[in-house]
Parts: sequence; structure tokens; C-alpha cells
Amino acid sequence: MVKCTIEKLLKDGLNMIEKRDYNNPFLDVQLILSHLINKDRIYLHMNKDEEVKSDVSKKYYDMVERRNIGYPLQYMINSQEFMGLDFFVQEGVLIPRSDTEILVEKIINLVNNTELRNKTINILDIGTGSGAIALSLGYFLKNSLVTAIDISDIAIETAKINADKLGLSNVLIKKSDVFGDVKNAKSNEKYDIVVSNPPYIEKSVIENLQTEVSKYEPKLALDGGVDGLDYYRRIVEVYGFIHSDKSILSVEIGYNQKKEVLKIFEDAGIFSFIESDKDLSGNDRVVT
Ligand code: GLN
Repeated sequence: MVKCTIEKLLKDGLNMIEKRDYNNPFLDVQLILSHLINKDRIYLHMNKDEEVKSDVSKKYYDMVERRNIGYPLQYMINSQEFMGLDFFVQEGVLIPRSDTEILVEKIINLVNNTELRNKTINILDIGTGSGAIALSLGYFLKNSLVTAIDISDIAIETAKINADKLGLSNVLIKKSDVFGDVKNAKSNEKYDIVVSNPPYIEKSVIENLQTEVSKYEPKLALDGGVDGLDYYRRIVEVYGFIHSDKSILSVEIGYNQKKEVLKIFEDAGIFSFIESDKDLSGNDRVVT
């Protein structure tokens, strides 16, 4: 029988995966195998001839097959790096995107370059998902108290796992529909900073996204209604209740939504200064 080595598994995996717009086959098979044998990718390079047990290789081939039909790698290996931190992810929560780091960096810079750096800052993250934004803000801004809310039970469970993993005690995670709570005037909290990466995809185009997004990621985290802008309208309304004079509101937007989102901000009439930032591909990505 042919010895099933690391090298053979990687080569077989590469042959099994068809190159599509959503994968990087060599990296994907490496990450699947690293995950299964609990070693980093460098180990694979250094130990090509090491034999792999048959139960592991069977799992490996199954996972490569699933990857080949578009199942997201991150859900298989329960991990996505964001802001240099390792986040646990699972089906039912949006996988953190590197584009969203622009929003986190924006807030960190705003805090560190203004008087906000000298006080305790209250931050609210609306629709936290895995907690990527809220927890990285809590991690990098030691003077922050972050409240992270989401309407989804699986998101709350996931964000709590990540808070524990990172050992953060300055982030409060709670299941809440901020819109309902605020409308009922239950919330008299004021926040210095309100952030959100809300669902912003137009309902009708969700099915046209890459398979791994449209088929496997939660619609609840993507669907922004008919024009994709539903949540910005609601956030602006809620912001009216929970901001103080100097509060900051910063949201992630779709690449073609800057004009519309700016209009929503301006129509709300509570903004004295507005900035926008681009992601690394040059698309508008954050409005503050
Ligand atoms: N940026 C996500 C995507 O690529 C969408 C996230 C969202 O709707 N907030 O599909």
C-alpha cells in the first residue's frame, strides 16, 4: 500500500479542488491538513514525508471534498484571523472580513489621536456576529467598555466564546434588538462611539454572491432589504437616542453605498462632520 504522507495528501487535495473565484486551493488544503493534525503550515513543509493515520486522511479527503463544493474553510476549521487575533467562527455567524479591519483601525486612530484616549469610553457594537469588531476594540483600547449586541442566539454564543478566548472583561455581550429596546425607551445609556457592520446586501442580489457566501453564510447578516440600506436608516434613528454631543458613529458600507449612506446621515441632521474611508481594494468601505 502506498504510504499516505503529508506530501501525498497535499498533492491529492490540490488535484481535487477546482480553482474557483472563492478559493486558493493550495492554501486551503494546507489549512485543512494543519487543522486536522494540529500543527502549523510550516510544519507541513518541514515534514513532507511524515505518515498520516488513515482516520485523519479520511477526514481530510472529506473536508477537501466539501471545500470543493464551496463550503467555507473557516467553518470547517472554526477559525478566522481578524486584527491579528484568532476568532472562533461557526455556521450561523458571518465570517469576519479583512475589509472590516478598516472600521476597527478608524476607531482606534480616532481614540488615540483625540481627548478620548484619556477617559473611559463607552462603545456600542450593533449586530456583533462573532464579536470581531467589538472584541478587537476591547482588546486594543484598554480604556474602553464595549457593549456588543446581536439578535441572533448563535452570534451571542460565538461572541461569548471569543470573549473568553481573548480573556476580555471589558466587553459585555448581550442578546438585544437595540431597535426595539430603544423605541420602548428602555435604554437610557449614552455611548461615545457606536459602530456597526450591518447587513447591507440588496435582497435581490444575495443569490448572485459567491456560492460560499450565498449558500452557507447567514442571510440575517447579509440581507439589508430591498435597497440594502434598511439598517442604516434604523441605526441613525436609534443613534438619535443614545448619542451625546461628541459621539462618533461609524459604519461599514457596501462598495457602492457611500452616497446613499451619507444622505441618510445628513437627513438625520445630527452630524457635524463626516468622513469616509476606503478598503485596500480602493472601494468605499466605512462612513464615520
Ligand atoms: N462584506 C460582506 C460580503 O462580502 C457583506 C457583509 C454585510 O452585509 N455586512 O458579502
